[in-house]
Amino acid sequence: MADDRDRSDEALRKRLTEAQYHITQESGTEAAFSGQFYTHEEPGTYVCVCCGKELFSSTEKYDSGSGWPSFWSPVAQEAVSTAQDTSRGTVREEVLCANCNAHLGHVFADGPQPTGLRYCINSASLDFEQDEEA
Ligand code: FE
Repeated sequence: MADDRDRSDEALRKRLTEAQYHITQESGTEAAFSGQFYTHEEPGTYVCVCCGKELFSSTEKYDSGSGWPSFWSPVAQEAVSTAQDTSRGTVREEVLCANCNAHLGHVFADGPQPTGLRYCINSASLDFEQDEEA
């Protein structure tokens, strides 16, 4: 859904905040405990702030204590892609929006079961869509 937005660099610069642009387009990282979603507990879906694609669900969100929104799984394996990130002198697995390649965060192998994964995601790379009242 919602992949009809203009994602040219010029359009993104206009539409996104400075922090959203820096994090998604320049692989930035927001300061821990600074984002709008790390304690966010509403039921709903987290979508890519750049292209609107559904990425994570509140169902797989948990409090990792890291200060970033953390998920043990994306909504679907094909929703995100990963790439090796060797910056900062370590090897980390970068997480990207599979649809538009926006940088989202990193994935680590210290998450809870059933996956054992921790998707450590910047709030600034996400928008939130609340579930309709049942
Ligand atoms: Fe995207």
